Amino acid sequence: MIVDTHAHLNTDDYNHNLEQILTNAFNHQVKKIIVIGTDEASNRRAIKLAHDHEMLFATVGVHPEYADQMTTDHLESLLNEKKVVAIGECGIDLHWRKDNLEKQKKIFTEQIELANRFKLPLVIHTRSAFEQAYQCLLPFKGEVNGVFHCFSSDLKDAKRAVELGFYIGIDGPITFKKNQELAKIVLEIDFNRILVETDSPYMAPTPFRGKTNEPAYTKYVVEKIAEIKGLSVEEVMKQTTQNAYKLFNLGGQSSWRKNY
Ligand SMILES: [Zn+2]
Repeated sequence: MIVDTHAHLNTDDYNHNLEQILTNAFNHQVKKIIVIGTDEASNRRAIKLAHDHEMLFATVGVHPEYADQMTTDHLESLLNEKKVVAIGECGIDLHWRKDNLEKQKKIFTEQIELANRFKLPLVIHTRSAFEQAYQCLLPFKGEVNGVFHCFSSDLKDAKRAVELGFYIGIDGPITFKKNQELAKIVLEIDFNRILVETDSPYMAPTPFRGKTNEPAYTKYVVEKIAEIKGLSVEEVMKQTTQNAYKLFNLGGQSSWRKNY
């Protein structure tokens, strides 16, 4: 089986066909999907979906895109909801805006503190801002963990992320021909730190590049990782599923986190 550890099924893109998307995922071995919140409305929607569908789990967070409009005040009450497995999507994005970096750092740090207090992993978004996000996390080394989702920095930073206790999220871009750095990361990073994700509806892999992504397409990411690592597709499914279960406690095994 495959776990899609990052999908925005709580967006309007799937209003008309969610059941079909879930069936399609299931038929392509994707048996569990983590639905990612980015603001208060999408956090609540992720939780609702997770309550309604056995194969779905939820995360709640404030994406750096909303750093100016939204506080983190609503998050704490949502963390006690069933099937909330992580805090995020949170982080720092300097691709679109650099002027509110201090505000982004503040909102991100508040979520790191929550993750530490509730012993939940972080789902981290960085774009042109690995260093800034890394510096926010460094004081919490050993206290928090999580994933750098849709990893887009270089091998050196991937190694620093792993050293900090974090996982590396791999999605559609690994299938793009020009992405040699990401292939190098997949090859060299310890396999027990790699997660498979889609970032649906974004980041569709080849041969669907530019189209609406969906969890079933993790198949192409898994196949590419297998090719790069010289492993079978089954081996890649098995290891990345184990990794996802461990980080997000999907089996409810961990004694220090609540059960689902
Ligand atoms: Zn995302």
